[in-house]
Amino acid sequence: MHARLSSTEENYLKAIYKLTEHDVQGASTNAIADQLQTRAASVTDMLKKLAAKLLVDYKKYQGVTLTEQGRLTALSIIRRHRLWEVFLVQKLHFGWDEIHDIAEELEHVSEPKLIQRLDDFLGNPTADPHGDLIPSAHGELPETDQILLNRLQVGDSGMIIAVFEHDPKFLQYLDEVNLNLGKQIGVVKRVDFDDSMTIRFADGRELVVSKLVSSSIFVQKHA
Ligand SMILES: [Zn+2]
Repeated sequence: MHARLSSTEENYLKAIYKLTEHDVQGASTNAIADQLQTRAASVTDMLKKLAAKLLVDYKKYQGVTLTEQGRLTALSIIRRHRLWEVFLVQKLHFGWDEIHDIAEELEHVSEPKLIQRLDDFLGNPTADPHGDLIPSAHGELPETDQILLNRLQVGDSGMIIAVFEHDPKFLQYLDEVNLNLGKQIGVVKRVDFDDSMTIRFADGRELVVSKLVSSSIFVQKHA
């Protein structure tokens, strides 16, 4: 295993993981700077450091990718973040809109024994309170068949299983309209003009959701 990384180094690995997760291409310096709200020059310096530690592959003009070691390290940081989020909601009774910033700090405590005991204490959860899947200690992520709500057509139905957006204001809105994880919904109407949709809950209640909302929620579609 590698020597301990600083919180900043860990945040870079996480940012690069997120930027390259669904993409074969590397992350650009500018995209990383955007994600971490820092200057491109600082990014370049840090990438050289991480490349020297064999955590990233950094080729000019091709962008940055994680090495296998870098990918496993990023997944272990994500694992810690998501386990702490479960702990904060289940054991300390925080709301799902309050936990992200706290977990951003706790994720940098990397003692493996602590994290394994936390995982066991929580009953080895597979998803965090936002529905994001928790990587195993070996860096494996369970398969998922989630799709964005806005991909459903009229007549389709499914269950809300995760949120793409973690902004507290968004999560508070979902609480207000009772659009939480585990809810069963069906699509009764779509408006082509603005891509809004009307969904119906199991109890018959209907709700109009904007394109922004329907593209920030993941569902598991019923066959
Ligand atoms: Zn979070």
